[in-house]
Amino acid sequence: MLAEIIAIGDELTSGQRLDTNSQWLSQELGLLGIRVGYHTTVCDTLEAGVHAFRIAARRAQVIVATGGLGPTADDLTRDVLSELSGQHLVLSQQALEGIASRFSTRHAVMPESNRRQAMFPKGSSLIENPDGTAPGIKMVLPAGDGWGEGVGSVVYALPGVPAEMRRMWDETVSGDLKQVAGENRVLRHRRLKCFGAGESAIEEMLPGIIERGRDPTVGITAHEATITLRISAWADNDDSCWKKIMTTESIIRQTLGRLVYGEEDDEVEDAAAAALLAASASLATVEAGTAGRVASLFAQAADRRNDSNQPFFCGGLVLPMLPGEKPELIAAAKEVARSHNASVGMAVGPVRSTGERQTVDVVVVNDDVPIVTEHVLGGGGIAMSRAAKSAIDQIRRILL
Ligand code: ATP
Repeated sequence: MLAEIIAIGDELTSGQRLDTNSQWLSQELGLLGIRVGYHTTVCDTLEAGVHAFRIAARRAQVIVATGGLGPTADDLTRDVLSELSGQHLVLSQQALEGIASRFSTRHAVMPESNRRQAMFPKGSSLIENPDGTAPGIKMVLPAGDGWGEGVGSVVYALPGVPAEMRRMWDETVSGDLKQVAGENRVLRHRRLKCFGAGESAIEEMLPGIIERGRDPTVGITAHEATITLRISAWADNDDSCWKKIMTTESIIRQTLGRLVYGEEDDEVEDAAAAALLAASASLATVEAGTAGRVASLFAQAADRRNDSNQPFFCGGLVLPMLPGEKPELIAAAKEVARSHNASVGMAVGPVRSTGERQTVDVVVVNDDVPIVTEHVLGGGGIAMSRAAKSAIDQIRRILL
């Protein structure tokens, strides 16, 4: 079974607002085990709306639409559904009473325009909206209906206001769809986070794993040198999903070894923090080439852990420059550890450019033993961020 999401509104197609409803709905449909094949974003005209729904009805069994249910002339979703199905709009007394009572409880007169929100294509049904005036519309479009080649779809049209849409989903639509989808079809995801090799290098290390049509599927994405492997499994139940995921996860972990630093939302600094805590160590930093990013990321990791009893980060110095020579960096790392009473000191040197090549030297002094590493940063304008992450990851590698 395939689903399509249609987000409606000039605000979206003109780029003034980001369509976050489709993202949310896709995740919810995934949890129900319904695969989303298409996202469509369409402007507020009748012609475009009918066109979009007609295409969706040819390829998706479930169509979830958001937006265009308001009272104004450019809110056309109900007209689109009427035009598409050839069913006239009829007044729902139940909806009208609901809308009128919302106004009367606020001691306000219902504007005539709000009557539009009580109009429904004949044969459709109303989806309660406890938080707003616009009820949603549920409508079944039969297969091979009058206008063409529909596959037989159920349409849920919901308001664009995210809070209203989500509540209606939770209270009505998801329950309805569970029956359509069958309770047992589930989709689960797991993300493994890697640092220390590029996207294509990691892909090459995992032949047969990141491959179309594999079960479970493994997708790869990169963001500022952090690589995410996303494992997705479909099965009849939760346990079977996790079994499949765990088998693939252990192959990936065995192959990539220490390149895998964490999972889900973990950042490199969280993994370094965990390594420091596991070693009962504490860290102080001094940095020149990274504009305070190293100290800032460690401070954020400490904040996320929110554990004042176990401070692992004693502080960081941010300097406009540091001598680039290794003996001076070693001395700086020792000095920052001493002055901050930390067991580990780290110095991050300036980012150096030699032609196309950018590098940074990192010194970690652990119990007075210095380890000096050079990191190649690559291009693409993320040298500073990559330098900071490389330095931070060095802590994890040394302590593990
Ligand atoms: P209402 O009856 O309350 O006007 P509606 O169904 O007509 O609801 P829209 O007018 O299309 O919905 O959108 C109302 C507001 O909801 C928009 O101004 C925007 O803030 C938000 N919104 C609409 N669509 C989306 C979307 N796809 N993603 C995120 N926010 C959205």
